[in-house]
Amino acid sequence: MSSIELRQVSRDFDARTRALDSVDLTVLDGERLVVLGPSGSGKTTILRLIAGLDQPTTGSVRLGDALVDGLPPHRRNVAMVFQYPTLYPHLDVAGNLEFGLKTRGVPRAERRRRIGEVASMLKIDALVRRRPASLSGGERQRVAIGRAVVRRPAVLLLDEPFSSLDLPLRAALRRELIELHEAFRTTLVHVTHDQGEALSLGQRIAVLDRGRLIQVASPRELYERPASPIVAAFVGGPPMNLLPCTLVRDGSRTSLVVGQRRWPINPTHPLPALADGESRAMLMGIRPEHLHVDPADALTERAEGFLAIESRIRRIEFQGDSVLLTLDLRGSTAVARVAARDDFHEGQSVVASPDLARAVWFSAD
Ligand code: ADP
Ligand code: MG
Repeated sequence: MSSIELRQVSRDFDARTRALDSVDLTVLDGERLVVLGPSGSGKTTILRLIAGLDQPTTGSVRLGDALVDGLPPHRRNVAMVFQYPTLYPHLDVAGNLEFGLKTRGVPRAERRRRIGEVASMLKIDALVRRRPASLSGGERQRVAIGRAVVRRPAVLLLDEPFSSLDLPLRAALRRELIELHEAFRTTLVHVTHDQGEALSLGQRIAVLDRGRLIQVASPRELYERPASPIVAAFVGGPPMNLLPCTLVRDGSRTSLVVGQRRWPINPTHPLPALADGESRAMLMGIRPEHLHVDPADALTERAEGFLAIESRIRRIEFQGDSVLLTLDLRGSTAVARVAARDDFHEGQSVVASPDLARAVWFSAD
């Protein structure tokens, strides 16, 4: 097992393509870390640098205590599962799992034992005599993961291994991967562009945007406290609402201005620090489940500090357990998640009330 440390790692492919820009990242020994980012953000490049398939332009990579710059892949105790893995077509599943063990001189009895263990964990025991051509996509992916794990590498790298699979299969493989990791405690770096996959799989998540690491945090922290509007918009399905507003401080009171209306804010809510008399343009980050919606006529009186923004339902999307309402909100748009039993209709006038205790504040510029 091994920690991974990237220090000020940049990778330029040519004068205009900086795939990674000054990346500092530490993956703890035995940790399960997910690198999350859109297509082209540099995810595969990070894995290739860790595996030794590519070298940083500047910066250094450490595995455990060793600086591995320049060390070829086979001298690093690292296994990588590619996005579209190729299995040996002429070998059956057992042969594919065994291949790397044979070349490393693992004795026959030990090979058998490890293959049996991994095959049962990945639920491919019944397939061991089958050739890759006769396997489904999910089965092939299981074999590819098994082939990497059976070697007991210190570091396991997975490059979007589930992206070609359908949703239920992805969810099943996700759980199996977690169980596999818990059994072997290999340091694991899993790359994906799917924020849902990242949230359910990662002990921590590193968010990449155009070659830069913009936040590294636990799933909960990333979801509740995104560090920037980019993270806020990328994590969560649907994304966090970003409502343009102004915060105004007057003495010990802070008020919130949305459109033409102004509300005093309960001082117990977490707020950015403003100087007395200061007024600052902000984006209020509110998750759809923290934007409460009531029919306009149901509201008569409100306690101090309770926001009620007049709005209209533009669209309703049924989600099974809940309903998403797209709201026209005095100059902006927001999405609210409400219970499926609530009775709303398109075009209806409503009031939207952000739960300010859960709001995240971003500077508007
Ligand atoms: P991701 O895996 O997140 O989709 P990549 O790491 O594959 O992103 O690529 C990051 C950026 O580097 C992209 O702009 C890509 O076009 C560029 N890139 C990757 N590999 C090469 C290469 N071998 N030559 C030139 N540009 C490359
Ligand atoms: Mg990639």
